Amino acid sequence: MRSSLVLLLALVAAACQPPVSSSDVPLSDAALSAPIPRASDWRQHDTTRPAPDRVTPAPSRLPTPAPADATILISADGTSLDAWEAMDGSPAPWTVEGDAVVIAPGSGSIRTMQPFGDVQLHLEWKAAPEPEKTSQDRSNSGVMFFEGLYEVQILDTFDNATYPDGMAGAIYGQYPPLANALRPSDQWQHYDIIFRGPRFGEDGAVLEPARLTVLINGVLVQNNEMLPGMTIWMQSLPYESHPRRGKIVLQDHGSPVRFRNVWVRETPARPDPPIGYTHIAAADVSEADLERLVGRYERGPGDLFVIEDTPDGLALSMPWRSGLLPMVPLSPTRFQLVHTAAVLTFDLDADGQPTGLVMEMGGGTYPATRVAE
Ligand code: MG
Repeated sequence: MRSSLVLLLALVAAACQPPVSSSDVPLSDAALSAPIPRASDWRQHDTTRPAPDRVTPAPSRLPTPAPADATILISADGTSLDAWEAMDGSPAPWTVEGDAVVIAPGSGSIRTMQPFGDVQLHLEWKAAPEPEKTSQDRSNSGVMFFEGLYEVQILDTFDNATYPDGMAGAIYGQYPPLANALRPSDQWQHYDIIFRGPRFGEDGAVLEPARLTVLINGVLVQNNEMLPGMTIWMQSLPYESHPRRGKIVLQDHGSPVRFRNVWVRETPARPDPPIGYTHIAAADVSEADLERLVGRYERGPGDLFVIEDTPDGLALSMPWRSGLLPMVPLSPTRFQLVHTAAVLTFDLDADGQPTGLVMEMGGGTYPATRVAE
């Protein structure tokens, strides 16, 4: 009995204490010797994390026309759901009302029928008229890549406080936006998102994390951020291997948010050079045949190609630029530059002495005449 009274008094005393902020807690030696925290070390959904400044965007001409190669996911007049389906593959349960596709609250998120890999995505949305709702309940939705694994937050945070890593334009639970660039709630907003999906090895290991760049109403709010893993509420989950292409999801979070003019461009992979490209097979050319090419070749008044003899072989220099451009012999009179896709061909006279050269590079030819030293 007595111990429960003591416990009760202790609880009452604790409840009467002012809230303890982290700055009031003396740091232990262990805490002081821990690594200096970085921006990525914030705990999820921490309201003490600084919120970004408001930036009033410049006027936009909306809807933004789509480039010719874009796939239209929702038309500029907001009249079609044809590119979408429910998460179970059944018809998309949202509605078309006037100039927009509108979330039917509680019907579930929708996903594209087509999967996409790395993309440039444009999206226009307008908040639902629900000023009575606060924080994460006011016009919450989201653009989610790979069926929901990586979310860019949609939320009416024009005048609505919430945890910074859940604001409009946040990489949800990871990175707050760099600016609060929303327009007032009754206006259309536009997102431009550059998403590069993660790369996985055959064993499932992460070779390269996902990256996101986001602009809200033309203002940069995510700058090529590297995602540490999935974006999940209250959880920091690591990556799980998945294919290179996945469906894009628009989230139903219980608010009738409106969408129009959603289009996407899948960005192509940069082609790799062909196998063997980095190896230039050097011809066997005698020292004497190389030595005779050393000297100055005039392109015009004061403009020279100079062939120099270096311990690593011949190299091209130009007096008006610094550095030497190493040359690899393809024959006694043809040379490939190592770092530039340029070939030098030397002309020889009847005695085998050079009279000039021609450099072919970038679709141009650059002749030069041998001059005396
Ligand atoms: Mg959301």
